[in-house]
Amino acid sequence: MINELAQQIHKNNKEKGFYDNEKNVGEMLALVHSEVSEALEADRNDKYCELDSEHWIVDGKTLREDLNIEDDVQFQAVFKMSCKDTFEDELADVMIRVMDLAAYKGIDLETHIKAKFRYNKSREHKHGKKY
Ligand SMILES: [Mg+2]
Repeated sequence: MINELAQQIHKNNKEKGFYDNEKNVGEMLALVHSEVSEALEADRNDKYCELDSEHWIVDGKTLREDLNIEDDVQFQAVFKMSCKDTFEDELADVMIRVMDLAAYKGIDLETHIKAKFRYNKSREHKHGKKY
């Protein structure tokens, strides 16, 4: 599921022209970091998404219930009002950039996440660290 989504994200980024020029892994990682910083600022400004808010009901469904709103212009308008630049949106940007990078590098991110999670589960309390 993670790898499939990563492939879709990577394909879309190529179609949108983000791979028209040669990519630089350092730049790609810096852009992941920029999204982490944007998430920090969103939290500092208490800017959170209202995904389930009654205000964002379209065709009888909340945004969470229907991410497949047919009309792009309508979806963009609702998204910009409800989620754009919020903490959740920036976390999504972090994941999108990480998944795109993994797909670009041909990394089986799903297996690596599972392997690392399994390894972390086997480690001592706080992994033997102070925090
Ligand atoms: Mg962002």
